[in-house]
Amino acid sequence: MADSDRASGGDILVVPVDCANLALLQRLTIDLQATLARAATVASWDLSPQFAREAARGQYNSSMILAELFNRRSDPPTRILGVTDVDLFAPVLTYVFGEAQMHGPAAVVSTFRLRPELYGLDPDPEILSRRLLVESIHELGHTAGLTHCHTPGCAMIGSTYAEEIDLKGPGLCERCGDVVRAEFTKK
Ligand SMILES: [Zn+2]
Ligand SMILES: [Zn+2]
Repeated sequence: MADSDRASGGDILVVPVDCANLALLQRLTIDLQATLARAATVASWDLSPQFAREAARGQYNSSMILAELFNRRSDPPTRILGVTDVDLFAPVLTYVFGEAQMHGPAAVVSTFRLRPELYGLDPDPEILSRRLLVESIHELGHTAGLTHCHTPGCAMIGSTYAEEIDLKGPGLCERCGDVVRAEFTKK
């Protein structure tokens, strides 16, 4: 495990944080590239989230994971996105789909509550993959300084339930898209 991934040269580095489905991550990088027009790669190292586990809740503190991803960032890439299978929480919230540093380089998303089987439905790799893309774009949007958007279909709309994610597109509205494109090309 290396602390940096300079060789990749990716603009968005996707880091497995206890994420078993590598094919899902590979697909995410392809979809991120297509949606954001930035290079995306899966890191050659991973991060164990055990340090962020809160035993009483059986969940993992997303802010702690975010801070650790920030510590391990390298330059390039310009953005570092952790993807985890564990359930994330923020201290005042029951759970979060993800968290990001506003104007910062680091973001983290969890697949835990994006899986249809959590809601008693059949597993569906397509739905999981799409939700993960939408929420990844959403959190990366926060790293570009975007707050929540109200334009129908925009990935920057805030969502509390997985079904709400399905009402959003993976794409960004014109205003949010312009901000992300401008921010992601800055050094
Ligand atoms: Zn948000
Ligand atoms: Zn928008």
